[in-house]
Amino acid sequence: MHWARICARLQTEVGEVEYRTWLKQITLGPVDEDEVTLFLPTRFLRDWVRGQYGDRLNDLWSAEIAAVRRVELQVQRGTPARAASAQGVAVDAPVPEPAPPVVAEIRNDLAAPLDSRFTFDSFVVGKPNEFAYACARRVAERPSSAGFNPLFLYGGVGLGKTHLMHAIGSELVRDGRVSVAYMSAEKFMYRFIAAIRSQSTMQFKEQLRSVDVLMIDDLQFLIGKDNTQEEFFHTFNALVDAGRQIVVSADKSPSDLSGLEDRLRTRLGCGMVADIHATTFELRISILEAKAQASGVPVPPKVLEFLAHKITTNVRELEGALNRLIAHAQMFGRPVTLESTQEVLHDILKAHDRRVTIEEIQRKVAEHWNIRLTDMSSARRSQAVARPRQVAMYLSKQLTSRSLPEIGRKFGNRDHTTVMHAVSRVTDLMQLDSAFAEDVELLRRMLES
Ligand code: ADP
Ligand code: MG
Repeated sequence: MHWARICARLQTEVGEVEYRTWLKQITLGPVDEDEVTLFLPTRFLRDWVRGQYGDRLNDLWSAEIAAVRRVELQVQRGTPARAASAQGVAVDAPVPEPAPPVVAEIRNDLAAPLDSRFTFDSFVVGKPNEFAYACARRVAERPSSAGFNPLFLYGGVGLGKTHLMHAIGSELVRDGRVSVAYMSAEKFMYRFIAAIRSQSTMQFKEQLRSVDVLMIDDLQFLIGKDNTQEEFFHTFNALVDAGRQIVVSADKSPSDLSGLEDRLRTRLGCGMVADIHATTFELRISILEAKAQASGVPVPPKVLEFLAHKITTNVRELEGALNRLIAHAQMFGRPVTLESTQEVLHDILKAHDRRVTIEEIQRKVAEHWNIRLTDMSSARRSQAVARPRQVAMYLSKQLTSRSLPEIGRKFGNRDHTTVMHAVSRVTDLMQLDSAFAEDVELLRRMLES
C-alpha cells in the first residue's frame, strides 16, 4: 500500500519516461521497523537510482512511515527488469562496471593491482597528451634510462595520468623481468604510518627499495605530510641511486607543487617532466570513437560530436557519459540516438551547460572577422561589419536563453525584428555557402567548449 502510493507519487513527480526507464525496475524488499529495502536488477541501475532518487525515496518513505530512517538499495539479480525483458534483452548484458580484473600479480605485495583496461593500446593519443604518452612508452621500453628518471607526469584530473602509469606497469610486468610497485601517494602514507605503528618500518623500507620500478600516483597528496614526504624522499634517493626507475604523477608541475619540500621538488624535476594538457575537441572525438567502437554498440557520429561539445571537462566525465548511454542502450535494446542521449544524460548535460554570454559571443565573432568590438553595437552598415554582427546575433539566439528584444538591446539597442532578420539571414546563408557555414560552426564550437 505504502509502496504503491510512493510509486504513484514518483510517477507524477518525475514523468512517465524517467519513471519507466528507471524507477519501475525497483521491487519492494523487506520493510523492517526503521529500514526499507528496495531491489534493483543490476548494479548500474542501483547506482543510478541511488544517485538520482536516493534522497527522494528516503523522504517519501519517511512521509509514509515515520519510523523509517533508511532506505537501502540492493542489487538482486533476477528481479524483473520489466522494460528490458519485455524486449527480450538480457538484463545481464555486459554493463560496464568497476571492479577491474587484475592484469598480473605484482611480486611486491605492497603495490596496488594494475587495471588491465589501462594499456597503451587503449590510450588515445592526440596533441594534448602525445608528449606524455611518448615519455611513458619510452620508460616502459627502457626503464631507468638517463634523462627519463624520474618520469614526472602532471595534469588536471581525469586526463589520463593514472592510465599511463598503469600502462607502463602492465607493459613491464608482462616482460616478467622487472618488479613493479604502483600505489597512490595516499596509500604510501597509510602504509608508512601502519609500518611505524607495527614497528616494521625497516621491512617497509626494504620492500620498497627492492622494486625495480616504483610508481607513486597523485603525489600532491603528500603536501603537508612532512614525515611521509621525508620517507618518500629517502626511498626515492635510494632507488634512483641504485639505478631503479621512479614514475610520479601529480596535478601540478614540480615547481608549482608548493608545500612539497624544496629538495624533493628539485629531485622530482631532474628527470623528464611531461604535462598532459586539457583535451581538445578533436581528441575528445577520437576518444569517444575508440570507446564506442570497443563497446560494440553503434553510436551515431552526431551523438559523439554532441558529447564532445558538451562535456569538455575531462576524459573521465566523457567516458562516464558514454558508458551510461551504452549501458542504457544494452539494457533496453534501443539504439542510441541524439534524443535518447539528451534524455539519459539530462542531469550531466545540465551540469555542463556552460552559460555563454552575449558579450563573449560578440568578442569571439569580432576577433574572428577582425572587426572592432564596438562595431557590434555601432550603426555602421557596410557588409564587412554587418555580416559578423548578424552572426553574433544568430549565435546569441542559439547559445543563450536571451529573448530577441534582449539580444537586440545588447547590439546597440536594435529592434527585435532586426535580430529575427539576422537569424534567418544567417540560416539561409549557411545553406548556400558552405565555407560560411563552417566558419559559423567553428565559432559555435569555440564558444561552447
Ligand atoms: P587522472 O589519473 O589523470 O585523473 P585517469 O588516468 O584516471 O585520469 O583517466 C580517467 C579516465 O579517462 C580513465 O578511465 C582513462 O582510461 C580515461 N582516459 C583518459 N585519457 C584517455 C585517453 N587519452 N585515451 C583513452 N582513455 C583515456
Ligand atoms: Mg589518477
